[in-house]
Amino acid sequence: NHLPPARTIEPLPDELISQIAAGEVIERPAAVVRELLDNALDSGATQITIRLQAGGVRLIAIEDNGCGIPPEQLPLAIRRHATSKIRSLHDLESVATMGFRGEALAAIGAVSELTLLSATADAAHGHFLDARSGELRPGARAAGTSVEVKELFFSTPARRKFLKSDATELAHCLDAVRRHALARPHVGFTLWHDGKLIEQWRATHDPEQRLADILGDDFLAQSLPVDYSVQTAGGTVRVRGRCGLPDYARSRADQQYAYVNGRYVRDKVITHAARSAYEDVLHGQRQPVYVLMIEIDPLRVDVNVHPTKIEVRFRDSREVHQAVRHAIENALAPSRAALAEGAQS
Ligand code: ADP
Ligand code: MG
Repeated sequence: NHLPPARTIEPLPDELISQIAAGEVIERPAAVVRELLDNALDSGATQITIRLQAGGVRLIAIEDNGCGIPPEQLPLAIRRHATSKIRSLHDLESVATMGFRGEALAAIGAVSELTLLSATADAAHGHFLDARSGELRPGARAAGTSVEVKELFFSTPARRKFLKSDATELAHCLDAVRRHALARPHVGFTLWHDGKLIEQWRATHDPEQRLADILGDDFLAQSLPVDYSVQTAGGTVRVRGRCGLPDYARSRADQQYAYVNGRYVRDKVITHAARSAYEDVLHGQRQPVYVLMIEIDPLRVDVNVHPTKIEVRFRDSREVHQAVRHAIENALAPSRAALAEGAQS
């Protein structure tokens, strides 16, 4: 008989459940940055300060001036599957916030030393919560929230070993901040690393100013405005942003930013559509640059596909593909005509 003996099935201890769940969401410091920025933006913050030490491994501290968390809610904020953002399946289907899974703070708390200091606008002072010990006490804070994450993966040395150099982890953190900041020009961002000011993007009403701040004046000079909407069976799909001139293409696909309803996504449909819009003007492996903000009825996109929410699923991916392709083709039309003229003469 070659069969192994049947072993008893037993529920996992809570702590192990948290560790397993955390593994899905928090793979490196940049994931913590992403989740905390999502929370800060959901809180309505207009100013966000990020302080990192040792690429975020030693410390990630994010401060916002958003709505804050009332003291009696602080313990709930760090509890798994507890959220203020959705209440029902119906809410989930049309979710408009960055977060909704009620998982991030619990996951971060499972793999680090997590503390929160938060105050609502009407409170005389704030409250401090230590996630590990559960200690809750008054603390000085103007309206908003400060979250500190120390010694990421300190209790899981195997995981910690997978982290790259501080410089590499910092680069990933910076990517996360950039992705959030590109889509939120009205929010000011400040980023410190090991006591040095790394980036500062002031709040602005002008989305193009933010693009120039982050991607450089070159990007603005070498790209064309995109603004296109189309009526589909499922409502309006709008695509806005900028796309690079064919000459401005790069050897790497490192300046392609796509957002769906304000959420940064990596999506094959969008990448393919953009690429095909450049089909006859880009040669070989050259990669176009673009920043595209796609707005679509939330009911027509499922954001609950992946724990990190970087992937989405469209109800009708053809309508999105066409909208993105046409949006870029329209933007490129004048330069395409110029190219054709150049070829004739
Ligand atoms: P989710 O964002 O999916 O709700 P999180 O674990 O990220 O789950 O956060 C849990 C809850 O804590 C949020 O629903 C929100 O009510 C509160 N919260 C977290 N961060 C902040 C913040 N920076 N400002 C205000 N509230 C916050
Ligand atoms: Mg969240």
